[in-house]
Amino acid sequence: MKIHEYQGKEILRKFGVTVPRGIPCMTVEEAVKAAETLGGPVWVVKAQIHAGGRGKGGGVKVAKSLEQVKEYSEQIMGMQLITHQTGPEGQKVRRLMIEEGADIKKELYVSLVTDRVSQRVVLMASSEGGMDIEEVAESHPEKIHNVIIDPAVGLTDADADDVARKIGVPEASIADARANLQGLYKAYWDTDASLAEINPLILTGDGKVIALDAKFNFDANALFRHPEIVAYRDLDEEDPAEVEASKFDLAYISLDGNIGCLVNGAGLAMATMDTIKLFGGEPANFLDVGGGATAEKVTEAFKIMLKNPGLKAILVNIFGGIMRCDVIAEGVITASKAVSLQVPLVVRMKGTNEDLGKKMLAESGLPIIAADTMEDAAKSVVAAAAGQA
Ligand code: GDP
Ligand code: MN
Repeated sequence: MKIHEYQGKEILRKFGVTVPRGIPCMTVEEAVKAAETLGGPVWVVKAQIHAGGRGKGGGVKVAKSLEQVKEYSEQIMGMQLITHQTGPEGQKVRRLMIEEGADIKKELYVSLVTDRVSQRVVLMASSEGGMDIEEVAESHPEKIHNVIIDPAVGLTDADADDVARKIGVPEASIADARANLQGLYKAYWDTDASLAEINPLILTGDGKVIALDAKFNFDANALFRHPEIVAYRDLDEEDPAEVEASKFDLAYISLDGNIGCLVNGAGLAMATMDTIKLFGGEPANFLDVGGGATAEKVTEAFKIMLKNPGLKAILVNIFGGIMRCDVIAEGVITASKAVSLQVPLVVRMKGTNEDLGKKMLAESGLPIIAADTMEDAAKSVVAAAAGQA
């Protein structure tokens, strides 16, 4: 789960990381008021969307007067902000943050991620922070320093100081940098984050260390123990199909292709997508209906898939273990009728009550294409999506 920058900064502040004073706003009027409350002489008007690269896309502007705060807020609020992380259609800006301006002497980069190789949290840091960090990682990987953190001890003073020196923090600011890095680590650890990134972490003219940006991702599987993080969720920033699916407890991810997939079990869902791709097709979604799917759940899943105007065919691939094939067949029949299905539907079923399920589908009168093996199913649905069924 992702959150906005201003929410990330609230978290950082709680954990002792220095962040500028800032106020989130939903309207231009609120933005001007916020600027008055903060006081000048310099403010930064920042688009709040769940994507980075806002600066380059025109979503971060430095204002030197209240008039400019108003002008920039009008420009940014409601704009379709396109960044390298939003995709070509961009993301509509619905929230702003007005922040006090900072006196930037140097922009640094720090982040924490969970590293699968070392199976530990890794702190990455660079002297070359700012808007071109991807470029630095590409052409000057030696300028990125990694610290693998032992979970039993956390980020030690020695490691924090060492990395701070490596990224060019002057001696007088080392203690400040250490406090900020350790605060960041604690925030990451205590919130079950999967990513925490501060880019830029700045050194100011008077030697202070401040987090000027904040980006967090959280492990969705740990959200049950963080209601305070769940409260930050902004559904406007999420894929509507995925939001709808989550209401019915369906594990659904939108993809770019045109073949809808309805599968039980994440492993089978992955294998199904791979097989579709192997035979030249492109999945429109990942969908795991879970072990205990009911006819209602299957119907909702069909409705969600069919909202995609690009959908050309659907593949239902079910392994009947705990889930019985006749229950799925009933769901498929009910759903196909309820949504008056207009795209070809390929169904493969294996396992418990397979024969009964197949019989129900055959007798339903629906134009369902039955498939026996994964290969059959994938080939049939790829052909159907191409209009060759
Ligand atoms: P991002 O582009 O989405 O990562 O957004 P950031 O929050 O990192 O802002 C982009 C850039 O705007 C930063 O790298 C800074 O150079 C600049 N910026 C942000 N806040 C301030 C500020 O208070 N003063 C000045 N002068 N520049 C700022
Ligand atoms: Mn940034």
